[in-house]
Amino acid sequence: MKRFLLVEDEKILAKNIAFFLEREGYQVDIAYDGEAGWAAYKSKDYDLILLDWTLPKKDGLELCKEIRNESNVPIIMITAKSEILDKIIGLELGADDYVVKPFDQRELLARIHALLRRNETKKIIEPGTEQLLQCKGLKLDRGKLLIIYKDQSVSLTANEYKLMEIFMKKPDNVYSREFIYEQIWDGLLEYSERTVDVTISRLRKKLTELSGEKFFHAVRGLGYRFRGKS
Ligand code: CA
Repeated sequence: MKRFLLVEDEKILAKNIAFFLEREGYQVDIAYDGEAGWAAYKSKDYDLILLDWTLPKKDGLELCKEIRNESNVPIIMITAKSEILDKIIGLELGADDYVVKPFDQRELLARIHALLRRNETKKIIEPGTEQLLQCKGLKLDRGKLLIIYKDQSVSLTANEYKLMEIFMKKPDNVYSREFIYEQIWDGLLEYSERTVDVTISRLRKKLTELSGEKFFHAVRGLGYRFRGKS
């Protein structure tokens, strides 16, 4: 049975969400503030985390950032704020998706299913495909979701993994932001160039820290190439 952590300080809302998800066959632990959320996260392995934006003691963004520093667990942010900027900040900190309060429980469930499915499919290696995809000195481990460079490695989130796979399969292609968006977020997030840019720049930073090289080169008016002169 999949186990979720829900960090939400509105007790009635938290209990309603947990009740609904438990009826759908998930196990849900609730934490009512950010510090309790962190303690719960450290105490167990969760399949997915639902994180409220504004929380006592430690806010949801801070918690998201801390969890993402050490884990690729799928994270959905719950926010009462609908400004696009806030959504983007959530994505910059590594959240995979968000819902805006008040939301329909069915919508939340659809997003959970989509995210879990994405997380599952990336772990299944299609027959006939190599476990390791190699390109330009980097190796993508499709089983462990790691990027390996020499004897160092860094782990990837679901979105980062999909991005790497797209680019490493055909490294000389230039991919438009729309294409990248369709491969990763279609149906999950409204289209925004910035979502693509933010995810690529986060991934680029990871790869630069790993290898000292700059991957992903923006091609003006077109999109991105895996590697190019800057
Ligand atoms: Ca709150």
